[in-house]
Amino acid sequence: MIPEAAPEKRAPEPLRVVQQFVNSADLEEGKDDLDTPAALGEWLSARDLLEAGAEVSPVDHRRALEVREGLRGVLLTHNGGAPDPEAVERLERAASHTSLRPSFPAGEPPRLIPACHGVSGVLARLLGVVAASAADGTWERLKACADDECRWAFYDHSKNRSGRWCSMATCGNQQKARSYRARRREG
Ligand SMILES: [Zn+2]
Repeated sequence: MIPEAAPEKRAPEPLRVVQQFVNSADLEEGKDDLDTPAALGEWLSARDLLEAGAEVSPVDHRRALEVREGLRGVLLTHNGGAPDPEAVERLERAASHTSLRPSFPAGEPPRLIPACHGVSGVLARLLGVVAASAADGTWERLKACADDECRWAFYDHSKNRSGRWCSMATCGNQQKARSYRARRREG
């Protein structure tokens, strides 16, 4: 199981689960906790997002990965990266198979809840969290690491939102070393 981001790089609730979802793949290590439909089902039920033993089809699996990688593409733009129209299109397509509806729980503010079941319902819930976080200002602080090989999702708690790397000790320093080498070559 891929470990969660360090506590100081974790998004606040409820956005944290979206960050966990994006970080269910470790691109640098070539690991993916969602590499099969069954693995996706286990991952979701371990987080109480899906009933244990619920059916997960290959189509569900494909859509979940499209949502994950589409979100990663959006998170890169939060870090100054160029938008990836193809990833966004796949994300839009996968999202079009989900559905949210307003709910009015007694004594609580209205909210959007999934209006579909199974994995589609989980994806709806995650995307609903994304939409709500865009409204409350937390979404733009969730970023994908600027290191091309890493792209790990981290939450930028810095005051001026200037964070670029998931970890200064690893990616940040590698980047510094690389630009130092590049400058030396140019010089
Ligand atoms: Zn990184």
